[in-house]
This record gives sequence, structure tokens and C-alpha cells, in this order.
Amino acid sequence: MADHFVRAGRTASSTSLAELHQLCANDYTSAASRRAQDHRDDAHLIADPRCPAALPTDPTPCPGPIAVLVLDARNAGAKGCEHHAARLLAVLPGGRPVALPDAPEGAALRTFTASGDIRRGEGQ
Ligand SMILES: [Zn+2]
Repeated sequence: MADHFVRAGRTASSTSLAELHQLCANDYTSAASRRAQDHRDDAHLIADPRCPAALPTDPTPCPGPIAVLVLDARNAGAKGCEHHAARLLAVLPGGRPVALPDAPEGAALRTFTASGDIRRGEGQ
């Protein structure tokens, strides 16, 4: 049976261990360009910089500040910019927008109207 352990004063006697070291070296070398480009395999775990109302399937950025709270039929809510709140509301059965205290005048109404346009295929 092959010796898979490196013992003090001895080099690895196993070809399997040498193969593992070679695989590690190859993997490190092959990932060099990805490291140079700051590629992160865990990029999906980094927090979305957009508002909480932005749907994962919607790649658009927030065009404005968080202004509206979108509540669903059970009163669970997500705060969002008017753009993403309208898109969320358009696909949320029984949802409604509520303007946040510091929202611009008419934010909830604009969100509600825009969600209706999106539902009818007339909005963005
Ligand atoms: Zn947004």
C-alpha cells in the first residue's frame, strides 16, 4: 500500500501525494487570470447594491432613492425606489404601495400607476 503521509525527515513517498500537489499547482496557475481580474466565485453572495424591491430577474439599477414600501396581501413589505417598487407590485398579487415619510410627493400613486402600466404591457 502506498504511503500517503509525509514523515519528518522524509519526503513524500507516494505518487498520489505528488499528483495532488501537482493538481493544486495547476489549479492555482489556471486561476491566475481570474485573480488578476478580481473575479470572485462568491460574487453572488455580495449584497445587491440596489433597493430591496429589485427582483433578482431584473438587472436594472435604481434610478432614484428608496421612496416606497410595497406591502403584499399579508403585510410583508419591501422598501424600494419607485422604479423597482412598480415592477415588484406588477407581479405581486394583492400588493399595494405605501409612501415612506420622506418620499417625494405622489410617490405611491406614481408607483401604483406604473405597476398597472407594466401589468398591461405598457410600462417598463
Ligand atoms: Zn430600486
